[in-house]
Amino acid sequence: MREIKIEESRCSPVAGHQPCIRRNGLPDPWSKKIFPPTRKLMVGGSNPPTGSKITLLWITPDAERICETAMLSCRNLFDNLPFDDLSFNQRLGIVYRGGHFGILEHASASFMIENISRSFTHQHVRHRIGISHAQISMRAVELDKLQTVIPPTIAADPESLDSYLAVWKNIRETYSELRERGISPEDARFIAGAGVQSQVMTTATFRAWIHYLEERLYKGAQWEIRGVAEEIWRQLREYAPNIFDPKWREYWE
Ligand SMILES: Cc1cc2nc3c(=O)[nH]c(=O)nc-3n(C[C@H](O)[C@H](O)[C@H](O)COP(=O)(O)OP(=O)(O)OC[C@H]3O[C@@H](n4cnc5c(N)ncnc54)[C@H](O)[C@@H]3O)c2cc1C
Repeated sequence: MREIKIEESRCSPVAGHQPCIRRNGLPDPWSKKIFPPTRKLMVGGSNPPTGSKITLLWITPDAERICETAMLSCRNLFDNLPFDDLSFNQRLGIVYRGGHFGILEHASASFMIENISRSFTHQHVRHRIGISHAQISMRAVELDKLQTVIPPTIAADPESLDSYLAVWKNIRETYSELRERGISPEDARFIAGAGVQSQVMTTATFRAWIHYLEERLYKGAQWEIRGVAEEIWRQLREYAPNIFDPKWREYWE
C-alpha cells in the first residue's frame, strides 16, 4: 500500500489561522483538524439601546479559513502560485477592491435578537437575500407575555413617559377584554403598537451581513436598528476580525 505523506504548510500568515493541511500535494480542507465539529456557541448577550439582547448562536467554525479556501480554490491552490504567498489581508483586498464578494457567502452566522420592538423587526426582515428570519408570532404568544420598548427620548422626558405608559396600560387592558369576549389572538393583537416587544432569530451569510451593516450602520438609519447593527458588527469582529475589519468598510456593498 502506498504511504500517504501528509505535509503541513502555512497557507496563511494571519495570527490564529491553523495551517492548511495538504495530503499528497492536495489540499484537505475538510480535515477535522482545520474544521472542528460544528458546535453551538452561546456567546454572552449584550445590551445596546433599551435593553435589547443580541446573542451570537452559531458561526461557521474557522470562518475566515473557509472563506480563504473558497478564494484559493478560484486560483490553482495546488500550484505554488505567487498568489499563495499573499497574506489573508492582501487576499481580502482582492475580494473587497475587486468585488469578489461571492467568497464571503461560504460562511454564515446566526443571531438571536431579543427585546426589540416590532418597529425594529419590520425594518430588519426587509433584508431578503442570503438572510433568513424566524420571528415571534403574536398569534402564538399573547400580548400579556410581551412588554413595550420605550424609545430613549420618551424615557428621558417624564411627562412623555407617563403618557406613553398610560396608553400601553390601556392597550393591555383592552387586549384582555377582547380576549375575554372571545376575540382570537390574531385579531386582538391589532391593538398593539409598533413598540411592542418582539424577538427574531436571523441567519445570514457574511456577504449578507456586510450588506446589512452597510445599510444599517449608516448614521441616518433608525436608532434601534443602528444599535443592533453596531452590536452584530462587534460580535462578528470577534470571530472574523479580518473580514469585518473597519478598514474594508469603504468597499462594502
Ligand atoms: C436608512 C433607510 C431608510 C429606509 N426607509 C425606507 C422607507 O421609508 N420605506 C421602505 O419601504 N423601505 C425603507 N428602507 C428599506 C430599504 O428600501 C430596503 O428594503 C432594505 O434596506 C433592505 O435592503 P435590500 O433590498 O438592499 O436588502 P436585500 O433584500 O437583502 O437585498 C440585497 C441586494 O440584493 C439585490 N436585490 C434584492 N432584491 C432585488 C430585486 N427584486 N431586484 C433587483 N435586485 C435585488 C439588491 O442589490 C439588494 O441591495 C430603508 C432602508 C434604510 C437603510
